[in-house]
Amino acid sequence: MKRIPSMIFLLAIIICGGIVNEAQASIVINQEKTGKYNIYENMEILEDREGKLTINDVSSPTISKQFKANNKGIPSYGYKSSVYWMRFEIDNQQRTERYILEFPYAPHDSITLYEPTVGNEYTSLYGGDLLPFSERDRKHRHVTFELTLAEKETSTYYVRIKSEGSLQLSVVLWDEEAFSEKGLREYLLFGIYYGATLVMVAYNIFLYSSLRLRSYLWYVLLIFAVSMTQLTLNGFAYQFLWPDFPWWNNRSIVFSIALSNLAGALFVNKFLEVRNYARVWSRILQVLSVLNMGIIGVLLLSYPLALHLVTLSTILFIPVVLTTTILCWKRGNKAARFLFFAWFIFLLTGLISSLSDAGILPLNIYTRHASLIGSLIEMILLSLALADRVKIIQMEKENAERATLLLNEELEERVQKRTEELQISTEKLLSMERSRRHLLSNISHDLGTPMTSIQGYVKAMLDGVIEPCDQNYLGIIYEKTLYVDRLIQDLYDLSRLEAKQASFYMNKGKVGEFIQFLNAFEVDVTSKNIVFQLDSKLSQNQNQWILYLDLNRIRQVMANLLSNAVKYTKENGIISLEVIEFEDFYKKYKERQGHVEEIAVSLEKKVNSHSGKSLVIGVHDNGKGIDSESLPYIFDRFYRADAEHYDTYRNAGLGLAIVKEIIDYHHGMIWAESLVSQGSSFYFTLPIYTGEPGENK
Ligand code: ADP
Repeated sequence: MKRIPSMIFLLAIIICGGIVNEAQASIVINQEKTGKYNIYENMEILEDREGKLTINDVSSPTISKQFKANNKGIPSYGYKSSVYWMRFEIDNQQRTERYILEFPYAPHDSITLYEPTVGNEYTSLYGGDLLPFSERDRKHRHVTFELTLAEKETSTYYVRIKSEGSLQLSVVLWDEEAFSEKGLREYLLFGIYYGATLVMVAYNIFLYSSLRLRSYLWYVLLIFAVSMTQLTLNGFAYQFLWPDFPWWNNRSIVFSIALSNLAGALFVNKFLEVRNYARVWSRILQVLSVLNMGIIGVLLLSYPLALHLVTLSTILFIPVVLTTTILCWKRGNKAARFLFFAWFIFLLTGLISSLSDAGILPLNIYTRHASLIGSLIEMILLSLALADRVKIIQMEKENAERATLLLNEELEERVQKRTEELQISTEKLLSMERSRRHLLSNISHDLGTPMTSIQGYVKAMLDGVIEPCDQNYLGIIYEKTLYVDRLIQDLYDLSRLEAKQASFYMNKGKVGEFIQFLNAFEVDVTSKNIVFQLDSKLSQNQNQWILYLDLNRIRQVMANLLSNAVKYTKENGIISLEVIEFEDFYKKYKERQGHVEEIAVSLEKKVNSHSGKSLVIGVHDNGKGIDSESLPYIFDRFYRADAEHYDTYRNAGLGLAIVKEIIDYHHGMIWAESLVSQGSSFYFTLPIYTGEPGENK
């Protein structure tokens, strides 16, 4: 494809000297038979600006002198309105034989060969794509004429060429054998080229139908347009596709170049998703597409204008595409590297082809068809880029599937977790509901029982069954009312504590003062002849530590714990209070570890969740103790470890629940150890105040 020919040709001609004003040597056909003679190397050229000269004019002595020798390369004139005349002499030193004169550049509009006859007369033979293909002298893709060269004769030929398109004054003389050999070689090459093109078109149409990606469609259009350009340039299109439409043949080259620029711009834009990498260049490509669409429209009105515009668009197209691909590549679009190499090779081979046509590079079958080979490589590379895209899509699909799978797993996990949480909260709700019912039945039972007794005694008094002023029964009634009153008070306290509505009046005080406060409880226990002991294991320094507490509430705690201890301890028993720093307590406890394993574990947990310094206050008795099954529940509301002796002890099972709430409020811990018949130990902790807000409040 000659997309950049005229400028380079002109440059080449300037560099190489081109046409000189001296007579040319004849083309001699002698024994050193080569089969091919490059006429353009030994011909003379005349530019006829007006296009009015006839064969008689140009062969006349005056104008004849104005012919200038072409001493190098194939003369090329870009787009010119002038008529060009060529003159060459063939000297046949061999026997009479038929030769073929070929004009290898197919798109010329009109070529007239003037063949000398007898005297100074000439017969004219016509060719060029303005002439219907069927009227050609020989049915070949290029304009070819048959020459019969007589033995030992020298003949002068004139050729008149006119074209609205690019002019390449290439003329070659072949003997018939060499010409057919060359034909075979060329057809093989073209067969490979067009065969590969067809395969790629079919393959990409297939890919488009399964992937539905628009870039494949533009790629198919691009291959179609590029091959169409090649077919037109090589003369095959005129020979096989539209032999009877010279008008269209003349325009088809501009049409197919504009179409390849259009498809190329659309393809690059869509395939590289240029707007995501270089917005401005995406716009430029869009403008190029519109320009080329416009050129196709202009072609119907003015061929020369369309020709100039398509040249301009092609000159713009190459750098735009190269810059765009480089930018996209640099900005992380991997597919751009294929595209860059594809267009780069395309450009390079186009250059090689043009330079060899200009005679700067040697003209052989490879250099002549370099652009053809380049466009084939381009198509293959672009195909690879598209295949790469398929791979990327595949990978993206797999990644997406993997991500979906992970997401599903995560979702499943979450659903499971939520279900578990829901189950837990449902269970909690159910247990709360159970506990509420339990609470109500306990309350009604605990209130109901003494009330029924009171009613019974009062009724008996009223009925005269017992004396109305019987001190004994009045005492029982009074005790029962006291019990009901205490129960109601405890219930009220507990409900307010549980609902966090109870008021606490927190104050700071030294540990030493607190020990004195504990000492005062001696009075509470001595009633049953029980021995009271207070054992403080604190240092002088530790006595200076500060506690932050509501003393009245702590008094309630101590009263409940001590009243229980008194309640469950026989006369002459011992109740002792122990005050110790938590770490010392823990060390002490560790020394006797293995004593009760379960307590060790729960204590370990308490230590882990414990932060900062604390005091441990222990209340020990040597009473009846609590069995290990009841021990975990004694801090629950209405729980009585010894229900059988309900009446004996008159306990409602609320005292420890209240104690626990108060200790919780002070950020302390409470637990109990007990051995049946040996006694019980209740421990609670109180944090040492360090002055940090929130820690002890
Ligand atoms: P109450 O106020 O009725 O004593 P608590 O909540 O204080 O109820 O105690 C709950 C249960 O724990 C009691 O019914 C009793 O069985 C048991 N208990 C509490 N303290 C002791 C102790 N020092 N010795 C033996 N058992 C105790």
